Amino acid sequence: MLYIGRFAPSPTGPLHFGSLVAAVASYCDAKANAGKWLVRMEDLDKPREVSGAADEILHTLEAFGFEWDDEIVYQSQRDEYYVDALNTLQKQALVYLCTCTRKEIADSSNAMGIDGLIYPKTCFFKPSLQTSIHKACRVLVLENNIAFLDAIQGEITQNLARDVGDFILKRKDGLFAYQLAVVVDDALQGITHIVRGADLLDSTPRQIYLQQNLNTATPHYAHIPIATTLAGEKLSKQTLAQPISMSLAEHQLFDALKFLGQNPPAIIKNATLNEVWRWAITHWTLKKVPKNRSAHLSE
Ligand SMILES: [Zn+2]
Repeated sequence: MLYIGRFAPSPTGPLHFGSLVAAVASYCDAKANAGKWLVRMEDLDKPREVSGAADEILHTLEAFGFEWDDEIVYQSQRDEYYVDALNTLQKQALVYLCTCTRKEIADSSNAMGIDGLIYPKTCFFKPSLQTSIHKACRVLVLENNIAFLDAIQGEITQNLARDVGDFILKRKDGLFAYQLAVVVDDALQGITHIVRGADLLDSTPRQIYLQQNLNTATPHYAHIPIATTLAGEKLSKQTLAQPISMSLAEHQLFDALKFLGQNPPAIIKNATLNEVWRWAITHWTLKKVPKNRSAHLSE
């Protein structure tokens, strides 16, 4: 079986336990299937990027013994591919320009979707004639269900029109949106299997919709529970998640395997990093990963 997996961190801060778990899961699944494992830096959102974070993430991955295949891809250097994809969608009349501000949308929509207010298609029905104003690009979605079978979370169904609305492909500030970039890059890198945090589960139907309209293959998906604080908040820079330290990598790897339901035997907690990895890849079982969208690490 051809298997190409990936880990795609955003350089908005150092790796924390939650991102380590996603890296470990995608790595073990790729290696257990004799696959390739690629690293892609999702650094499209330059305003949110923390200087030096991309290098720090890569150093941390190295210190943990991850070995990636091929060159690292940086999304900030790939605008030409995103432009091509946008053109392909435009040719199918699936894209329209939007000048609405957040406030205008809040004033004109009362339909709440899974990701905030549903855009009421104001600019689709009445295109703005103003040329001086910055415009976003939205994709027209359809009133039909998109379903996929997630290897961990089971069958997921979403109606994009009802649950999400016409979403943004390119922002007013000229930056391409994550949803478009991730689909383009997964396709160009030949990604066959995506193992990532369940915070992206609700984005997957949008990505499948774009794959269908860009005529690219839909990879296999497996969404692992995201690591939360005891209060149930996602670990992130906002919740002041501690960066993982490079010392005692083997203990943190052990904790990540425990979080992922792999039941590593206590005896390997004191093994070398290489030994923990060998155990992890040999014993990796996707079916053992908890089927929750989130979980916190029990002591
Ligand atoms: Zn608009």
